[in-house]
Amino acid sequence: MKLILLGAPGAGKGTVAKLLTKMDGSVQISTGDILRGAVAAGSELGKKAESAMKAGDLVSDDLIMGIMSERLKEDDCKSGYLLDGFPRTIPQAEALKVMLTEMGEKLDAVVDIAVPRDVILDRLTTRRTCTDCGEIYNVKSNPPKVEGKCDKCGGPVVQRDDETTEAISNRLDVYNEKTAPVAGFYEKEGMLLTVEATSSDAVIEAIKAKLGN
Ligand code: ADP
Ligand code: ZN
Repeated sequence: MKLILLGAPGAGKGTVAKLLTKMDGSVQISTGDILRGAVAAGSELGKKAESAMKAGDLVSDDLIMGIMSERLKEDDCKSGYLLDGFPRTIPQAEALKVMLTEMGEKLDAVVDIAVPRDVILDRLTTRRTCTDCGEIYNVKSNPPKVEGKCDKCGGPVVQRDDETTEAISNRLDVYNEKTAPVAGFYEKEGMLLTVEATSSDAVIEAIKAKLGN
């Protein structure tokens, strides 16, 4: 399947994407993971993205479209993809539309995961991430078996630089201002599926029902 997952930071886009990849072999494409990888590797891209990310601001549309125009052409995309964290602005959504038309591709749906703000805030402050493989933990509901160590790969499990209270509140403001309108864009295109759910399983069920399987 080819889906866009929309939703505020902490809405569960990454978790839902990971569950969906197991269903039909589609790949999860997270611009946040790609950017964090570039920052960790100290590449040119990483250097350009680092300060905006740390502050919880968006990286420039040009940089993101450069990444995605390459990424969507890779072979693993042939079995479908779940776009997690992209598009995040109206210009990105418009550029993606042009790109998909040129590639002769059509998305199955755009899923907007709607979660109340207090749940989001609680999740983000308790979220921990493996810096090596990106696996997500939660200090309250899903801690790693050994504190600070990833169950999957043994890498360090830490709080992200942009998950301080200050950066989180900025990320939510940026989301409301720049990304929330993207849902309206896809609503006009007749592609939007809004799911109000705080459990990933409920989101998966709604997607399955929509896609008819
Ligand atoms: P979140 O948990 O906020 O969904 P992500 O891992 O998707 O976080 O993204 C982390 C950061 O990477 C964002 O705060 C932003 O700085 C940058 N970023 C990721 N995707 C995009 C994008 N599509 N456009 C602009 N900036 C992006
Ligand atoms: Zn790991």
